[in-house]
Amino acid sequence: MNKLIRFFVTHIPRPALIRFSFLFVALVRPFYYGRNVECPICGRRFRSFLPYGNQGQPNRLCPGCLSLERHRLMWFYLNHFSQFFTTPAKVLHVAPEQPFIYRFKECKNLVYHTADLLSPIADMHFNIMQIPLDDNLYDVVFCNHVLEHVNDDLAAMKELYRVMKPDGWAILQVPVDPRRTLTYEDKSITRPKERAKAFGQYDHLRVHGLDYPQRLASAGFEVDTFDINDHLTPVEIARYRLDPSELLYIARKKNP
Ligand SMILES: [Zn+2]
Repeated sequence: MNKLIRFFVTHIPRPALIRFSFLFVALVRPFYYGRNVECPICGRRFRSFLPYGNQGQPNRLCPGCLSLERHRLMWFYLNHFSQFFTTPAKVLHVAPEQPFIYRFKECKNLVYHTADLLSPIADMHFNIMQIPLDDNLYDVVFCNHVLEHVNDDLAAMKELYRVMKPDGWAILQVPVDPRRTLTYEDKSITRPKERAKAFGQYDHLRVHGLDYPQRLASAGFEVDTFDINDHLTPVEIARYRLDPSELLYIARKKNP
């Protein structure tokens, strides 16, 4: 059964898993009965999380809500270190992640808008390098794991900044390679196989390095860093299956 589950999660794209998640979760959950790990998003406990990724890396994907480490980290920040769930706010969520979308929609304090280039479940459809919206609209913007895919990430950051209200804040996560000081991009690399080799995934256009917060700053943001190691013990980080090397960047638009 473990081999079968590994086959499913490594060969079927996560969006498809999510689409059939009700069935998938009902099938696999009995095999993950236990209390070793805990998902802060759906609140369920399991023997372990499901494997996920190219190599089927063990203990990553929640069998309850299909969250990954990065979703659980963001949830932890929103729930314990922000007023996101209590203060009225107008929110723009670009490429909304499935573990969040329905939970955010249910929050009475939020006016919640979703956007995506194509996804039929999004409220609006646009390219984030040219957002067809007025300035100063949103208190909170989320746009995670998108900026590594767009042609000009700085143009997209400036557009996200523009549609935010002064004093608004954003979470704009990208995969950061901690071995790189500077972001690496090469516009001459266009073929999917070459991109996979150079940038780590066939549809990535760059690898962001440790200069990522400076790139956000060049678009106008003030950036705070949230490090989960400052707030949870290693035992807690292991129980929630968070990635202790992942930093959360909180990008703020300061009142001019
Ligand atoms: Zn979960």
